[in-house]
Amino acid sequence: MSEKLAIYGGTPAVNVNEVVSWPPVDKSDEKMVLDALYSKVQSRGTHNLKLEEEFSAWNGNKFALFTNSGTAALHMCLVGCGIGAGDHVLVTAYSWSSSATCILHHDAIPIFVDIDPETFLMDPDKIEAAITPRTKAIIVVQLHGLCNDMDKINAIAKKHGLKVIEDACQAHGAMYKGRKAGTLGDCAAFSFNQNKCLSCGEGGMFVTDSQEIFDNAAKLWSFGETSRPEQSRDYHAYALGWMYRNNELTAAYARSQLAKYDFYFKTLRENGEYLLKALQGTPNLLLPYEPEYATHNWYNFNLRLDFAKLGITDPVQQVKLRDAVAAALRDEGIVASVWQRFILPEMTVFAAKNAYGQGYPWSIPGADEGVDYSLEKFPNALEYSRKHISIVQTLRAPNGLDITEKVNQGIRKVFENIDQIDPDRIAAILEERRKKA
Ligand SMILES: *Cc1c(COP(=O)(O)O)cnc(C)c1O
Repeated sequence: MSEKLAIYGGTPAVNVNEVVSWPPVDKSDEKMVLDALYSKVQSRGTHNLKLEEEFSAWNGNKFALFTNSGTAALHMCLVGCGIGAGDHVLVTAYSWSSSATCILHHDAIPIFVDIDPETFLMDPDKIEAAITPRTKAIIVVQLHGLCNDMDKINAIAKKHGLKVIEDACQAHGAMYKGRKAGTLGDCAAFSFNQNKCLSCGEGGMFVTDSQEIFDNAAKLWSFGETSRPEQSRDYHAYALGWMYRNNELTAAYARSQLAKYDFYFKTLRENGEYLLKALQGTPNLLLPYEPEYATHNWYNFNLRLDFAKLGITDPVQQVKLRDAVAAALRDEGIVASVWQRFILPEMTVFAAKNAYGQGYPWSIPGADEGVDYSLEKFPNALEYSRKHISIVQTLRAPNGLDITEKVNQGIRKVFENIDQIDPDRIAAILEERRKKA
C-alpha cells in the first residue's frame, strides 16, 4: 500500500502531542527534590547515602557510590581494578566515546575488538586474539540494554587473569541468565543522564562487591582521600583523586525515579517485545534480537536497513539513505536518531594516538606495541555504523502499547515505501527548514 510519508506532507503515524516526553515527572519527584532543597546539607548527605543503599539493594551489589556521571563511574572502575599507566584494556569498537576514553583517563591504552553483527556487542570470539602481554582488563559494554555473553567472557578473563568491568550505562535492569547487569563482572558503571532508562538529569553510579575495588575507586572519586565526606576526614590525598561526587538535589531526584523504575522497566519491556513482534516481516528492515540468555531492557530499539536486499553497496549511498530514512521516521513522530555514526577507532582522539599531547599515553615506553587501530580490523562495527537507526525515547513509560502500535505503523509506512525515500529531496527539505528556523 502506498501512503504519503509525513516528510512529504502526509499525516504523521504518531501524534507527538500524545507522547509523554522522557523522563516523566510527578509530585513524588517534586516532594523529594524540595526536601533536599530545604535541608541543611546540599552536597553529600542523607539522599546520597539512601540512594546508594536503595540502588545497591535493587541491583544486588554490596557497594555503591553515587557519581556526577557514568563516565566518572567508568574511570573509577579502571582505578578500582588497579589498572596502571601503559596497561592495555580491551573494549568494543562500537560504543559511546567514554566507554574507551575512560581508559585514557587513567593513562591506559584501549584495544578495540570488533562487534558481533547481530548483537552489536563486542564479539566474545574475537577477544582472545586481541589480548596482549600488557592486557589487564576487559570493559564489557552492555550496549543498548543487552548483556553480552558473560559466561564466555568471564571464562576468557579468568584464563588470562583479566578483570572484567561492565559499562552498564545503558543497562539498568537488563539481565544475563536472570542476573542483573552490574553484577556480572568485578565492578560496573551506570549512567543516570537524561537519555538513560533511569535519569536524574546527570549522574551515575559505581558498583562492586569487592571491598578492595571499592576502596580504590572511592579514593579517585573524592580527592584521593581514604574517607568519604560523611566519615571523619583528614583531608589528605593518599592517591590521585578527582571530584566525582554528586549533590543532594540530584540524589533526591534519582531516588524518586528509582522508586518508579520497575514500572518503567516493565513498560519498556512490553513495548519492545510488542514492537519486535509487530515489525516481523517488514521489508528492507533488519530487526534486533534477544539472545536466549538475555533480558533486554530496550534502552535503544535498533532498526537496520537491509542494504543487501536493497542492493546498495556504496558506503556513501548507504549513509545518505539511512539518514533520509531516519529523518522520515522523525517526521512520522518517532524519536529516531543515528545514535553513534562513528566507530571508536575512527574517533580522532584514538586514531591520532594523542590524548594529552606528546602522543601520550601511547608514548609510554612499550605501551604502543601491537596497538593497531586500522579500520579494516573492524568491518562489522563499520557496517553497523552505516545502517542503524535508534529509537530511544518514544517507547518509554508511561507511553504504552497504543503509542507503540503507532510507532509500528510509522516504521512500516517508511520501510514499505522506501522507494519514495529520495535522499536528495529530503536533504533539501531539511535544509529549507533549517533556513526558516
Ligand atoms: C551514556 C553512556 C556513558 C556515559 O555516561 P554519562 O553519564 O553521560 O557520563 C558511557 N557509556 C555508555 C555506553 C553510555 O551510553
